[in-house]
Amino acid sequence: MAATNKAEAAPHETFDTILTLDFGSQYTHLLTRRLREINVYSEMLPCTQKLADLGWKPSGIILSGGPYSVYEENAPHVDPAFFELGVPILGICYGLQEIAYRLDKTNVVAGVKREYGHADLKATRFGSKVDPLFEGIADDMTVWMSHGDKLSKLPEGFHVVGTTNNSEFAAVAHDSKPVYGVQFHPEVTHTSYGTQLLKNFAVGICGAKQNWTMAEFIGQEINKIRSLVGPEGQVLGAVSGGVDSTVAAKLMKEAIGDRFHAVLVDNGCMRLNECEIVKKTLSEELGINLVVADAGDQFLEGLKGVEDPEAKRKFIGGKFIDVFEEEVKKLEAQNSGKIQWFLQGTLYPDVIESLSFKGPSATIKTHHNVGGLPKRMTEGQGLKLIEPLRELFKDEVRELGRQLGISAELVGRHPFPGPGLAIRVLGEVTKEKVRMAREADHIFISMIREAGLYDEIAQAYAALDLSKAVGVMGDKRVYGHIVILRAVCTTDFMTAIPYPFSHEFLTKASTRIINEVHGVCRVAYDYSQKPPATIEME
Ligand code: GLN
Repeated sequence: MAATNKAEAAPHETFDTILTLDFGSQYTHLLTRRLREINVYSEMLPCTQKLADLGWKPSGIILSGGPYSVYEENAPHVDPAFFELGVPILGICYGLQEIAYRLDKTNVVAGVKREYGHADLKATRFGSKVDPLFEGIADDMTVWMSHGDKLSKLPEGFHVVGTTNNSEFAAVAHDSKPVYGVQFHPEVTHTSYGTQLLKNFAVGICGAKQNWTMAEFIGQEINKIRSLVGPEGQVLGAVSGGVDSTVAAKLMKEAIGDRFHAVLVDNGCMRLNECEIVKKTLSEELGINLVVADAGDQFLEGLKGVEDPEAKRKFIGGKFIDVFEEEVKKLEAQNSGKIQWFLQGTLYPDVIESLSFKGPSATIKTHHNVGGLPKRMTEGQGLKLIEPLRELFKDEVRELGRQLGISAELVGRHPFPGPGLAIRVLGEVTKEKVRMAREADHIFISMIREAGLYDEIAQAYAALDLSKAVGVMGDKRVYGHIVILRAVCTTDFMTAIPYPFSHEFLTKASTRIINEVHGVCRVAYDYSQKPPATIEME
């Protein structure tokens, strides 16, 4: 990830922040999400983070779960300096075991019974009261466990604040310091009152303010962009008509007006009327300074004879950069000189992906954002990156978009791949095939919208198959193309199931596509799940 000077103006400088140190649990990012849902700003860093290198002070620290056993030889351990910082600490599962283990290595042992799934937790009563961690939580709380190790005894200086049938140390607290540990996972939705518990920790115990709102963020982010870019700086950004690039562009426009230049590259594989729609929305409605590079023919020319999906993606990515570079030169010639900044739509899940702790053997993966620039454009005196959405989750980007006055329809749009319809036309891409895919897609998506199903579906499109099939149209034998419809439900895009359309809906879609899209004689619905089938076809 390219280093930018965002650190000095990052949200953790102005918002009370709960820092989560990640020990590799698959749920760590949920801690960050749950806290932000209750308007407490939270960030995640790998468990290898040294306090001395942090450069800012969190309001509290959460130690996440993780796949290791604390007593294993290569198990990760937290920098002890965090315990001297004087801010509250909450350990979750591995995090709890880590807190116990650092006090005495015999405190953690492999359990005889492993514990996965539901358990019923009872908060310990102290007179009529429960520990502040359990305030506002019903006596019987359902918690979700996932562990094999357990505390063998109560760590010195701690007392029990919650128990389950299996775990006498399901929740513990230090006698005099704000240090807590829970064996269960409050971040998963299967734990009832999990968010309340995290709120009790973050707000009640750490005293963090619940001021993380998009309205608050906009003001701060605009100031940050202004001071980063300076009074003369020019910023360039690629837009696609998608949610992230539109929201980022509008934010830039608010911050620096016409010193932000949005570039839309028409790659000839866009959806029906997409260029016109983007032009209308971005320049007319949102007032963004936009240029459109009409490069459709160049792309389609270069795609001739290219059948392999990876080769198609590679060509489109490379060509995109060439066209973009040309546009930069043109803009610089027309403009008051050099453009110094490039807007990149990195989101927080990308950051998490590159930061999460993957164990000592795993190399940390560097994220390559779609629309990212090659080194030659960013090295030395080249373009510097500006990533205003870097701290945000997708739903936060949507909320930001709404607050910036972007229409609900655009903000709620399904994702669309960078190479566009080129990877939805299987095999070689031709202008004619793109036309068929585009028209079929438009009919399908319009029908989904009309039926009120758009928001229930995470992604939907029409693709054009490689092969052709025989049909009889108007008493004449035809040899036509096959359209494949795909629509999936998913929340994280990691796993997905096909949307269960009614028979009637699919029949109507099929009839309309065959009747209205010249050259198509069959329509199929893709019923495959992910995994193994990916959401896109290529
Ligand atoms: N690996 C540890 C155990 O099995 C911690 C598990 C966890 O953090 N979920 O107990």
